[in-house]
Amino acid sequence: MSSNPQSLSQPPAGLWGALQASSSRNRPKPRSLASFENGISDLIEADGAETFNKHDLLCPREGCASIILKKGVGKLKEGQSIQIEPQDIPAHPLLPALPSSSESTQWWLITPSPMQFENIGFSRPVQSLSLSPSGNKLKLLACAECDLGPLGWSEEGGSEFWLACSRIGYRDE
Ligand SMILES: [Zn+2]
Repeated sequence: MSSNPQSLSQPPAGLWGALQASSSRNRPKPRSLASFENGISDLIEADGAETFNKHDLLCPREGCASIILKKGVGKLKEGQSIQIEPQDIPAHPLLPALPSSSESTQWWLITPSPMQFENIGFSRPVQSLSLSPSGNKLKLLACAECDLGPLGWSEEGGSEFWLACSRIGYRDE
């Protein structure tokens, strides 16, 4: 379940073009959070006091669209933004920048174990980042199929897994 953090860097554009062309058949088309008219309100359904993801969560890369989480598994949480970008690696164009750590942002919270996911990849614990609320090292979450990330984070050994709502693709059907 671990992947090399170096795979979070971007391969040459031509390589992804070729991969997309060969694997885009019969795959759902991921929609971004920003493409929904009412934003996050279009993406949640309430169950008791909690709100859950109404759509399957996908890798946001068109042509990959690997299913990351089934609908109804992630809880919507407004919480402190976390800088999950390794400082020496620029964000992928498909991954919107997250607000600064002093602001809040929207997350899908998944508990209590990685078994809740359909597919997810983890980086090794990140040494250079200690910006989680408790100051523990972070593991970054990425698409298990194409390594696009970081899509979210968890603390090393933790039981909470956080996906940035703005970085996930949504299955709209
Ligand atoms: Zn992917």
